[in-house]
Amino acid sequence: MATATVGLLPAVGKFLDKSLQQPWIGGKAASASEGGTFETHDPGSGEKLATVSHFNARDVDAAVAAAQRAFDKSGWATMPPNERGAMLHRLADEVERRIPIIAQIEALDAGKIEGQAQGDVANFVATMRYYADMAQHIGRRNTLAVKSHEAWTMRHPWGPCGFIFPWNFPFLLIGWGISPALAAGNTVVIKPAEDTPLSAIYLGQLAKEAGMPDGVINVVTGLGETTGAAVSSHPGMRRMSFTGSPEVGRLVAEACGRNLTPVKLELGGKGAAVVFDDVDVKATADKLVGAITFHTGQVCCDATRWLVHRRVYDQFVDECVKRMSQVRVGYQMQDSTQMGPVVNEKQRKRVLGYLDKGVREGARLLVEGGAADVPGKAGHYVKPALMEGSLENVAAREEIFGPVAYLAKFETEDEALAMVNSTDYGLANSVWSSDLGRCGRIAEQMRAGNSWINAHNVFPHGVPYGGIGKSGLGGGVNSPETLFDYWRSVSVVRPL
Ligand code: NAD
Repeated sequence: MATATVGLLPAVGKFLDKSLQQPWIGGKAASASEGGTFETHDPGSGEKLATVSHFNARDVDAAVAAAQRAFDKSGWATMPPNERGAMLHRLADEVERRIPIIAQIEALDAGKIEGQAQGDVANFVATMRYYADMAQHIGRRNTLAVKSHEAWTMRHPWGPCGFIFPWNFPFLLIGWGISPALAAGNTVVIKPAEDTPLSAIYLGQLAKEAGMPDGVINVVTGLGETTGAAVSSHPGMRRMSFTGSPEVGRLVAEACGRNLTPVKLELGGKGAAVVFDDVDVKATADKLVGAITFHTGQVCCDATRWLVHRRVYDQFVDECVKRMSQVRVGYQMQDSTQMGPVVNEKQRKRVLGYLDKGVREGARLLVEGGAADVPGKAGHYVKPALMEGSLENVAAREEIFGPVAYLAKFETEDEALAMVNSTDYGLANSVWSSDLGRCGRIAEQMRAGNSWINAHNVFPHGVPYGGIGKSGLGGGVNSPETLFDYWRSVSVVRPL
């Protein structure tokens, strides 16, 4: 570990001091069979954090075999749901006890502000407890009333389930993904993003300490095109879940299609916020600027197209410009920082590239954005940017995944709705007005998986989350729908 960070917890220092970070297979720290490695870096300083094992297809085979063994032999799949629930609560306890440790590992690895990372780890705990409790109260055997037949249905777990995750919310998304699968009695193989493998590796170790049966939670690390591709194309995987970009989502869906493996896809977005002329302009500007700068705009469900009623447009722009120009960009581990780095240099170039391309296509920069310099840190920093212009512009159409919002004006409800729905993405939008009747009307007609009213990025457990179109397939995240996805149905019939 090369990063010298003020306030590093001793347990984090000890974890990062390992010369090689090894993921977990069958309850043991596993080595890559060909000895391959890759490095993970601190996005805020550019310094190396760890050397990590790079798993090839053979290593992924071993992980799937361990997950299958645990499914068949550990008793995990067949134990009474309350016992399984108790074990998941125990794992949640272990995670909860270590929130500061995991959050610091995550903050360093993902470039995330430490307080935000603590919120992510707490969310993992809440998600695991939510499904641990729910699974105990859902009947898995249902008698059917059918004339002249005795008939019933059963719900069985599938077996090994694969999960591929992105780098923006590494630990939180692991919680959203694996909790329903585990609560339903499945075993899992987790492939974290190569930029942020550390919190998943730490979880593998914690699962062991929490007394989870060996092989119920397995972690494989490596690059997408090798380790990720081996996970998504593995015929032993009974279900797959992928969270990431639409481009890779298509590859994963194709690989699963070849094996006829059911797959859930949680992909990108180009969400809109529709701001009517009866809002509190300052409060709305506060919230939307807060949302687009949160985790440096690397949030799939962000509102990146701000559609504002003509009558309040200028006032809204003034308020946003003021706020965006004052955002303090800095190192993620510094208390004074409001917005940290983006995850890597590729992502920084992507954000800067969209500003250039957008301007070339005629957009105007109201807040200039661009590269940011943080003294003493060779990290990947950008400033927030605000653009305006035609919604045909590339910066208004494509996902940038950075702190860049794009403004356009509207006059009527119909016009606003047409603008919201003029995209192939369909993840999340919001509508802002003091007329709640109007909000409900618009919220129901926005073509996406999720609509929010007078807020953006709202995730209470129990409300299904997911995208349509280019934003995904399957949805139901954080609600009972996803738990049911992790059971397969069987019907049994006897003519009388
Ligand atoms: P990405 O698609 O590049 O990578 C995601 C994961 O896929 C990584 O683990 C990567 O190693 C793996 N991967 C890459 N190539 C692969 C291949 N050929 N086969 C199998 N796996 C492969 O995405 P990213 O850059 O890490 O994340 C950003 C994207 O994720 C954005 O589009 C964002 O909107 C989306 N996202 C969506 C949600 C959601 O809930 N809908 C949540 C977070 C992020």
